[in-house]
Amino acid sequence: MTKPSPTAPADADARAALLARLRQLENASQTLDPGANRRKKLRSAVFASAERFLRKLSSMKGYVETEDKGARLLERPISEHGIPIEDAIEILERDVLKPGGNPAAAGYLAYIPGGGLYHSALGDFLAAASDKYAGVFFAGPGAVRMENMLVRWVADLIGYSQSAGGHIASGGSLANLAAITTARDARGLKSADFPSAVVYLTSQAHHSVDKALRIAGLGEAKLHYVEMDDRFRMRTDALDAAIAADRAQGLTPWLIIATAGTTDTGAVDPLDAIATIAARERCWFHVDAAYGGFFILTERGRAMLKGIERSDSAILDPHKSLFLPWGSGMVLVRDVNALARAHSYSGHYMQDATAVAGEMSPAEVSAELTKPFRALRMWLPLILLGVKPFRAALEEKLLLARYFFEEVQTLGFEVGPSPDLSIVTFRWAPAGASLEQANELNRAIVDGARKDGRVFLSSTMLDGRFTIRMAVLGFRTHRRTIDLCLRVLEEQVRRLG
Ligand SMILES: *Cc1c(COP(=O)(O)O)cnc(C)c1O
Repeated sequence: MTKPSPTAPADADARAALLARLRQLENASQTLDPGANRRKKLRSAVFASAERFLRKLSSMKGYVETEDKGARLLERPISEHGIPIEDAIEILERDVLKPGGNPAAAGYLAYIPGGGLYHSALGDFLAAASDKYAGVFFAGPGAVRMENMLVRWVADLIGYSQSAGGHIASGGSLANLAAITTARDARGLKSADFPSAVVYLTSQAHHSVDKALRIAGLGEAKLHYVEMDDRFRMRTDALDAAIAADRAQGLTPWLIIATAGTTDTGAVDPLDAIATIAARERCWFHVDAAYGGFFILTERGRAMLKGIERSDSAILDPHKSLFLPWGSGMVLVRDVNALARAHSYSGHYMQDATAVAGEMSPAEVSAELTKPFRALRMWLPLILLGVKPFRAALEEKLLLARYFFEEVQTLGFEVGPSPDLSIVTFRWAPAGASLEQANELNRAIVDGARKDGRVFLSSTMLDGRFTIRMAVLGFRTHRRTIDLCLRVLEEQVRRLG
């Protein structure tokens, strides 16, 4: 530090110029912080747009095909000067909200549907408006308590003990990555061990598992795809045999990944029996319940997911079976210390923050330091509505899938396994048609339904057969939409003769 010296005249001019420039810049940046009147105008325009969307939603298509796929967005590049909110909203509605899939609509029955609870949208608004920091307890004690409280709530739901912990990630892919990284470090795997480490999973496991293994440096690890039964569930006798064969070859069985609700068919692997094998073989047992997890709120789901409480780690996506907007996945680890060991960090600039005792900070148990305040979008709907309507909606989805499974057969469709959860697979297989012909017909049905758009179905390949999927998960999807879906399928079949 130097001693201040008396101001010379030349310095006085410089100082005046500096002050003038500061005033100028303050004025020029004023629009970043709109006053109450301006905020009201912005808010009305934004909420009016949300209202327009929500009021039209019941008649909106599940998928909207447009010529330009939103390309006109690019006609308005970011420039030095802004545009009025009305113009921005017009662009947003025309080029962004309209084209493509509409996961908020009842007719969205493709892939894994979303939803986007309104209460969560308001939570997001409050989280962003306050910009509360949610990564570190010192900075946002309430925000961190809220996240940890929700982690605890889900841990209780799946039957983990008090030693469990986790965090809210952006989705299932990153939640899987956190779990796999934790499993790697918990078993002390070093790079020299990777080529002999074996991961057991089925070919129906989600591709994010594969991706996570590679990102975690484990691209060389052996993936042992375990045979499935005729309902696409892992066969535990085959798992046993696979582990024994690998051990005989000098390999190290390391990780068993079961799926509770596969993406293709919604199949739930036999978690309890797998847990027994994992314990005996001292393998890390991970359950990917990204889609199926919150069905545990229903009686049927609880029975299906029995054994998840014995896993070492699990992921559940609130943005799937808890109807939140995209961007929320949860990872839970039975021993929170294992999660912390894999994600610990330190930095001198954090010394004030980490000295404060209290709750475990999300930053200590995740790859993120700064993170959006995601807990609020989950807490607000749950605290306002209670769990009851969620439970009801999830049971309704299970029953709608069963209903569809029966009804689609009366139309003459051939069906896959009866649904474990809320996904039904089916195909049109007229007598005498070759496999290629049948595949083409089913492709034409899915394409035709998407062009019609009232319902949006997706497809997959199962045992080399082009198969149509109907996934019911949106909280706005009720029986009338499933009946509409059946009518659309009937029309498509008629159209194709
Ligand atoms: C959706 C899904 C994932 C990936 O989650 P994202 O939230 O899309 O990143 C992983 N596993 C399963 C079983 C899923 O359904």
